[in-house]
Amino acid sequence: MRAEVTGEVFRGRCEVRTEFCRACVSGSVAVVKTGDGGCVTVCGACLDEMADSGQWEIPGSRPEPPALFAEELALPGAPRP
Ligand SMILES: [Zn+2]
Repeated sequence: MRAEVTGEVFRGRCEVRTEFCRACVSGSVAVVKTGDGGCVTVCGACLDEMADSGQWEIPGSRPEPPALFAEELALPGAPRP
């Protein structure tokens, strides 16, 4: 499925929840537009997993999670890795 990272990052719950999920309850998540017209929120770990496993095709240069989630450190109460 084609997926487009919007670059929007906020604090919330990851909707993808792979086994590597870091935001199953709450954490920094990015908004991704999926090919079927929907939007999902996804944490950095799940974004990596979905892209690496080929379930999401992310066009162009995929933002590296550390860059995408740089704001994570600025969010109060964000869990440290
Ligand atoms: Zn996740």
